Amino acid sequence: SAPSATVRRRSEASSLLRQTDLPPGLPFIDGAFRPGSSSQAINVIDPCTERVIAQIAEGTVEDTDVAVAAAVKAAPGWAALTPKERSETLHRIADRVSENSELLARLESANTGKPGMVAEDDVAQTVDTFRFMAGALRATTSAAAGRYAADHLSTILREPLGVVGVVTPWNYPLLMAAWKIAPILAAGNTLVIKPSEQTPLTTLKFAELVADLLPPGVLNVVPGYGPTVGTRLAEHPDVAMIALTGSVRSGKAVAQAAAATLKRVHLELGGKAPVVIFPDADLDSAATALRTAGFWNSGQECGAGCRVLVHADVAERFTALLVEQVSTLVVGEPGTGDDVELGPLISKAHFDRVTGYLERAQAAGVRAALGGSALAGNGYFVAPTVLVDVPEGAECAQEEIFGPVITVETFTDEAEAIARANAVPYGLSASVWTDDARRSHDVAARLDAGTVWVNAHLVLANEVPWGGFKGSGYGRDLSIYALDDYSRTKHVMHHVGR
Ligand code: NAD
Repeated sequence: SAPSATVRRRSEASSLLRQTDLPPGLPFIDGAFRPGSSSQAINVIDPCTERVIAQIAEGTVEDTDVAVAAAVKAAPGWAALTPKERSETLHRIADRVSENSELLARLESANTGKPGMVAEDDVAQTVDTFRFMAGALRATTSAAAGRYAADHLSTILREPLGVVGVVTPWNYPLLMAAWKIAPILAAGNTLVIKPSEQTPLTTLKFAELVADLLPPGVLNVVPGYGPTVGTRLAEHPDVAMIALTGSVRSGKAVAQAAAATLKRVHLELGGKAPVVIFPDADLDSAATALRTAGFWNSGQECGAGCRVLVHADVAERFTALLVEQVSTLVVGEPGTGDDVELGPLISKAHFDRVTGYLERAQAAGVRAALGGSALAGNGYFVAPTVLVDVPEGAECAQEEIFGPVITVETFTDEAEAIARANAVPYGLSASVWTDDARRSHDVAARLDAGTVWVNAHLVLANEVPWGGFKGSGYGRDLSIYALDDYSRTKHVMHHVGR
């Protein structure tokens, strides 16, 4: 095997950003950027060049408390708006994001290294999330009145929770923020969000762009680290619910911190999506789909189709098709052409983690049919990789690598395929590939995953729920289910007899 790709580089002089593109590097609280209580700063790094591109104030527990107080103060006013009024505001936010698409995509690319095509998709999806929630909130109803006890009439009301705390990851900084902010605001709540310390720029820019559209205190952003700002949000007695997208480790920490106040917890955690390919499947379309589904966002994607289980009879043919597809991926820095599909990993720490998995796998006898190591030069680039001869239970096929790596295992019968697909601690998503309709329904029913695709992988829409089973967490993003998660149900029973 040989590393398959070289990295297309920007010229030394060209930069993606102008200084004026950057948001103020401060907490956004009660409608304005304010100096926080700490003089410490966090360096924001370009993962292509390893250079510092911005400095952001390190938010503190005190800053978090000030932000929560602002959100508490703003909550009754925001909740009292009619659905139509809240909907109009969400549409205005969508318009504002849309008008600034180019800037937001460039900022996201500069911070994460993601290719323009990925960043542009993130912004387009962000706009659609706000539009969907703006529409959906107007269609939510409280349940119709009923008479369930003699001389009594019941109504069932949907209410906002109050203040929601949000913690987001670095892989889709703006989009993951939107997946929380839009339904939280739509359901009538106010919020305090902590972006990843590695990728705070687009969340702060979003706050700057929409500041005049929202009453002060409805949206607050406190940049900073998880164990300080994130933990304080999870613990704070005035926060009604905490929502986190991130790793299992952080999910457990947040659930524990939330326990003392028994607040609601919403967790979108990791994944290790099995891709189960039966002999009757269209192998060409499976290989073509995985070229995207396994490598989108450099594989830093919780739903990535990264764990192939293919029937032994077609394994060789499928692997050849997959390697052929993946070897055509164009790797590069953002700003080096619209055809660039794969960027670097987010950080040195994550790069070390991913390359560590690759080294240990190959030392244990797993073969890289493509890639298998880092790419030369600056930055955190890893070659698109296909690992074969992967034995059952191998570390690389059990743990979330979160990089441009697909493992290929084989199976010989359906029951074995399902048992092995389910034999990971995660349960976020999976796909099954077959032309047999009975089998597609049956296998989809038996896969332990919150999303199952049939003859597809990683296709999402705002209308459908996204979230996991088992170690992938609980709660649902997107769709009407997210609006339910960020609402509470109240029953009012009226005595109507004499
Ligand atoms: P991470 O858990 O390291 O960080 C996520 C966020 O949690 C960051 O803002 C971080 O500061 C914060 N955090 C860390 N420790 C915390 C603590 N003790 N208390 C409160 N907050 C804390 O995850 P990451 O590396 O940024 O993101 C990658 C992970 O996110 C992967 O496991 C991936 O699968 C998952 N993810 C899941 C989804 C999904 O929809 N299920 C989407 C994207 C990413």
